[in-house]
Amino acid sequence: MRDARIGLIGGLSWESTSSYYRYLNEMFEGGLNEWSQPPLIIDSVDFGSIVTMQQKGDWDGTGEVLADSARRLERAGATVLGIGANTMHVNFDVVRDAVSIPVIDVRDEIAREVLALGHSSIALLGTKYLIDATFYSDRLASLGVVSVRPSTEQTNRLQTIIFDELTRGIVTNDSRRYLKAVALSCLNQGAQVVGLCCTEFGLLMNEEASFPVIDSTKAHVRALLKAIA
Ligand code: GLU
Repeated sequence: MRDARIGLIGGLSWESTSSYYRYLNEMFEGGLNEWSQPPLIIDSVDFGSIVTMQQKGDWDGTGEVLADSARRLERAGATVLGIGANTMHVNFDVVRDAVSIPVIDVRDEIAREVLALGHSSIALLGTKYLIDATFYSDRLASLGVVSVRPSTEQTNRLQTIIFDELTRGIVTNDSRRYLKAVALSCLNQGAQVVGLCCTEFGLLMNEEASFPVIDSTKAHVRALLKAIA
């Protein structure tokens, strides 16, 4: 598409955005030649202020930050937007209403990919905010995908792994093993696919595992690239 340009609300966290940037370039097909890269603009917000608001439950505050970012990206020439994190899809409607360009919803892409694999249930692995709330699971359910949640203890440990390690650039084998154990326990409880519904989890597990895995970052990137094809 001529003049098409992806806009990414980034910095949620920088590790996540760096994966988006890598995948957007690695998975881009077409273009002029093998050096071609997708046209894209990243607006990187301060994750520190987002985390502070998350901890206080100030989701109106996070919505304002993301809506401002979305407007900046639209003004800068983006023709399609993505919010570069699953948890922050809690503000999806606010972001969508702040701009006149389409916003690609990662939840829809996850659901589409689960169904395309012939499955209808997913292990919902992400932040505590995402697992404990309904904004994510309800959207999946409305599209025909049932969520299997980790236990409270597992959810708390995932939250610690995300905020004390991954979003600060720390990757350990212990956490790699732990994420796999949680994934397997959800599969044992009836989940058919493991959903890496945290954009940093790709640092610990990939889609080439011995069980079905959908990495939300890759699913989102596949859809964003399709939108500018
Ligand atoms: N990037 C993460 C996600 O996909 C977590 C960080 C955040 O809370 O935004 O949910």
